[in-house]
Amino acid sequence: MPAAFIGHGNPMNALEHNRYTEAWAGFGAAMPTPTAVLVVSAHWYVNITAVTSMTMPRTIHDFYGFPQQLFDVQYPAPGDPELAQRIVDVVQPTYVGLDADSWGIDHGTWSVLVHMFPRADVPVLQLSVNATLPYEQHFNLGAKLHALRSEGVLVLASGNVVHNLRLVDWSAPGQGTDWAHRFDDDVRSIMTTDASELGRSSDHVDYHLAVPTPDHFLPLAYLAGLSAAANEPANTLVDGYEMGSLSMTAYELKGS
Ligand code: ZN
Repeated sequence: MPAAFIGHGNPMNALEHNRYTEAWAGFGAAMPTPTAVLVVSAHWYVNITAVTSMTMPRTIHDFYGFPQQLFDVQYPAPGDPELAQRIVDVVQPTYVGLDADSWGIDHGTWSVLVHMFPRADVPVLQLSVNATLPYEQHFNLGAKLHALRSEGVLVLASGNVVHNLRLVDWSAPGQGTDWAHRFDDDVRSIMTTDASELGRSSDHVDYHLAVPTPDHFLPLAYLAGLSAAANEPANTLVDGYEMGSLSMTAYELKGS
């Protein structure tokens, strides 16, 4: 199975059809139907590692100030409690809690999946991003998820490499600042050659501008772990910048 990191950007991408959403749709259409999708979303950033285990996860509208049309979006994919238990086993000795009734499918997940799997007929699970863990443990967790790929599970990470909402410039659609380009380019040279080096991005001169908080960057650590475990450098699926301080770069592992 392939695997990917998707730069999801503005929640409105759920409703739009643009070069990013077309790339996500193309990625989904080109692969055999996965048995399930496991999503590591920036928007489930909590103090525990957990995996959703409900049979029918709810669609979560975890934002405000957007049009009603976005609040009306439902992504009624089923869950897969058995796979949740399998994930608990796969990542041992890291503890992963089973979440039967708290989370569901957040917009980091559904804003992408409405394009990638529009029929919502593939089971979806989410794995939280544990805010208390250092970078290396996220990378190692990603590497452990490697085993799932040969079982037909699509592992998706959803965040943004460059994500600074405080510095968003609404007058700069489709553009990135110099520092956004520098950071995104340097991350790309790592991801497309040796993703095991991704941890050194935190030493980059532009890291604190590009990654003011770790939530949107850390999902990339999971794809880096998967890439290293498979000894397979990532390809760029689509790239671009929005509003100066967001990069939309997405990476894929094609798999065999
Ligand atoms: Zn986001």
